[in-house]
Amino acid sequence: MTATTPLLETPAVVRDVLAAVRRVLGPASTTVALHEPEFAGREWEYVKECIDTGWVSSVGSFVDRFERDLQAISGCAHAIATANGTSALHVCLLLAGVRSGDEVVMPTLTFIATANAVSYIGATPHFVDSEAVSLGVDAAKLDAHLRDTAHLVDGVCTNRRTGAPMRALVVMHVFGHPCDLDALVEVAQRWRLVLVEDAAESLGATYRGRHTGHAGLVSALSFNGNKVVTTGGGGAILTNDPALGRRAKHLTTTARVPHRWNFIHDEVGFNYRLPNLNAALGCAQLEQLDSLLARKRLLARRYEEALAGVEGARFLAEPPGTASSFWLNAIVLDPAQSADRDSLLAALNEAGYMSRPLWTLMHRLPMYRDCPRADLTLAEDMEARVVNVPSSAKLAA
Ligand SMILES: *Cc1c(COP(=O)(O)O)cnc(C)c1O
Repeated sequence: MTATTPLLETPAVVRDVLAAVRRVLGPASTTVALHEPEFAGREWEYVKECIDTGWVSSVGSFVDRFERDLQAISGCAHAIATANGTSALHVCLLLAGVRSGDEVVMPTLTFIATANAVSYIGATPHFVDSEAVSLGVDAAKLDAHLRDTAHLVDGVCTNRRTGAPMRALVVMHVFGHPCDLDALVEVAQRWRLVLVEDAAESLGATYRGRHTGHAGLVSALSFNGNKVVTTGGGGAILTNDPALGRRAKHLTTTARVPHRWNFIHDEVGFNYRLPNLNAALGCAQLEQLDSLLARKRLLARRYEEALAGVEGARFLAEPPGTASSFWLNAIVLDPAQSADRDSLLAALNEAGYMSRPLWTLMHRLPMYRDCPRADLTLAEDMEARVVNVPSSAKLAA
């Protein structure tokens, strides 16, 4: 054996994970996408109806129906469809009372939209760490961080160093795994933070039997092309508060005062409406939600079983007390194996199984590098060890 041989060898964990993925998905004749939309229902029929009737744009019966369907699925009293998930988050933060100059507590481990929505208001993200079970915000660590850095001033959580009000806490259900909402609600109440759920990845997921999106004052869903169901592009705001529901509708529809012919707007609103064409696609998609979720769950179980015997890696399991949407399946390498993450990604992608690492953590990005933050050790550790593998429902056919 020469001195260079070990460098040419594929690490055992890479070989074993690749073999496990192959057992679940079969050989890849063409590239297996990370997450593909599936149109197996009445999508064509509903979209055609929009075109045939001329109701393609911002008004139409499919928008109303889509919102009613989302209410029924989530159990939330009000659902307001929006142009995308980012715009839903933006309005959620406005409804939570976030203003320019505020800080918003949020995980560094999330998709960029969460941080950008904070920035659109002129507020600053204040990044906190995640826990290893759900990858969502670590409630105990957040509480300890707030004891170190914040105090209540006239009932307003205030950053002792910057003097800025810390108005809200945004939590995110990573890959569709609900985070520990009970513990987070408690911390949010103790520190008078308005809770907002970024539920973009968790349509169909429940926490202690209830759909995600109820714990927050307001919550955001996404129907982007890579989500559990898609409207092409789209999102929604969920809330149980009727006044907030009305206000969400008003703000997302240019703040127009209802009138038969006059155009009167009583504040600066947004054109964040979901077009009827997109809602039509969404109505057809929601009809298949149960089937999509059931097959995603089956696929996840197959991954979990295939990975059970693999040394050096594990499947990111459903957190106790929850039902995940299993939006994306994730493999977590053991700490000792983190140096093999990139060779695992290379091997999986080369074999035709589209795979990706976690999002680059928010606090590493140039525009968010100087934001206030807590210790982020767990998120940084996970960034080095998590790999997502193909997760479309059809892969469990
Ligand atoms: C997808 C997603 C969003 C919203 O994305 P849009 O593309 O704007 O619909 C927001 N937050 C998270 C965590 C997401 O995964």
